[in-house]
Amino acid sequence: MIKLHARLSHRTDAEPFVARIVRNLQNTVDRNREILLTNQTETMVPGFRGYLMVSHTDDSSTSDSPIWPLPAELDHLAEGDVVRISPRSGEIWVMYRRASTFNSMLVTERCNSYCVMCSQPPKVANDDFLRAAYLEAIPLMSPETRELGITGGEPALLGNGLVELLNACKTHLPQTAIHILTNGRLFRDIEFCRALSSIEHPDLMLGIPLYSDISYRHDHVVQADGAFDETIRGLLNLARFQVPIEIRVVLHRDTVDRLPQLARFITRNLPFASHVALMGLEMMGFARANLPALWIDPADYQPQLRAAVEHFDRHGMSVSIYNHQLCVLDHDLWPFARKSISDWKNEYLPECDRCAVRADCGGFFASSSLRRSDHIQAIEAAASI
Ligand code: SF4
Repeated sequence: MIKLHARLSHRTDAEPFVARIVRNLQNTVDRNREILLTNQTETMVPGFRGYLMVSHTDDSSTSDSPIWPLPAELDHLAEGDVVRISPRSGEIWVMYRRASTFNSMLVTERCNSYCVMCSQPPKVANDDFLRAAYLEAIPLMSPETRELGITGGEPALLGNGLVELLNACKTHLPQTAIHILTNGRLFRDIEFCRALSSIEHPDLMLGIPLYSDISYRHDHVVQADGAFDETIRGLLNLARFQVPIEIRVVLHRDTVDRLPQLARFITRNLPFASHVALMGLEMMGFARANLPALWIDPADYQPQLRAAVEHFDRHGMSVSIYNHQLCVLDHDLWPFARKSISDWKNEYLPECDRCAVRADCGGFFASSSLRRSDHIQAIEAAASI
């Protein structure tokens, strides 16, 4: 698991700042928004906002100088990454990794739902600094970034703040696909949909969860009365403005039994969705706390999963299976399985080292040590065909 937060060796009395990592001096653009990552202590190049010293344990710079030893857990930091340093609290947060294809912006931890399996349990504190930090970070990201996620909490709670972030993405990252994870409820407001679509972002997708074809069962999963109706209204409004939509279903004991019926509901009522993602459970946050009630071995829901996938496929809807190991999926479902777990929290077991399909398998969430399928087993070369 790759660490994205660390403690700095000392604190200084200065405001938090966002900056891009520079290793090669030829790549500097604006030193006031850059941190030099260097192992040269003697010939320190002046003018950078801060300095991170590689292999430097002598922390003699305990004054107000913005010079810190690079925390060992962040030895993955590289040219073009973007970090936020909070000198007063002595913290560094890796906001963006240039080489990763799994960058996402957690723009708020507040939410209007309270899903039983939420991996990022909502907080009520004002966290407007997150939006402000990303507005600083976006111009520092590489315009060659292929994809960037926006997540929460519920990003739509930012209202115009979300529109502002999307505008910044369009301006500074015009070739980057943006994928927003939202519960869709606030898009029941047609004017909000209009504002979002008026950005005319060239490559935008909203991932919106739907957990049942029966309203009260969806409302139970998200722990919010009326959420199903609001989400459906939001989906229809977004479709009216031709905003591309992905429908997401997290698979657990409360959602798998009616998965085939949900597939029929979606193909009949929401055929405009560009993609459907059927997702394995991440055992973090509330999912961890509610695991005894939610856990079902993926091997035990293969019939429902297969029926749903075949239904979507037959009706011409693009469908993928996320967060599942190939050895627990029916072989016929393998073409639909994607390597979807973010690289920084993706792991494999020792068993996987002798598996013929390891390179194609999505592996595990780091949190899966809590509970795994009883059917994890290395695939022999002959069976992988
Ligand atoms: S043994 Fe490991 S690599 Fe092989 S299919 Fe299972 S989880 Fe994937």
